[in-house]
Amino acid sequence: MQTEPKGAPARAIMDSPIKATALRAGFDLYQEGAVSFAKYKPFMRTWYPALKLNGEAGEVAEKVGKAFRDNDGIFDMQRRQDIAKEIGDVLWYCAAVARDLGLSLGDCAIGNFTKLIDRADRDVLGGSGDNR
Ligand SMILES: [Mg+2]
Repeated sequence: MQTEPKGAPARAIMDSPIKATALRAGFDLYQEGAVSFAKYKPFMRTWYPALKLNGEAGEVAEKVGKAFRDNDGIFDMQRRQDIAKEIGDVLWYCAAVARDLGLSLGDCAIGNFTKLIDRADRDVLGGSGDNR
């Protein structure tokens, strides 16, 4: 019996020029809209959103942890909505850091899929090391 390769949906996107273009464009469109709300000063570029990105990721973890501490690990609708807002904040700061570095969020997304597919093909999805 043939099993699907790891990341089959991502591979299908990357194998389709139309889908890969749509993926990149969607992230780039989000980035364009998101950073239009940026209000930090020019000297704060890159380091400020990078710090805040870490803070927002912590807020996601905090809310997940509280679901276990206070609610037996049950993610009711309110908790999931609260976490969704924090994930959105993480996404916003990803867009801002990328913009400040002159990076396209769409290219970051495509690059991430490329990396993960390569790792899956080499059977090194587990383990550690940024460049494995
Ligand atoms: Mg937040």
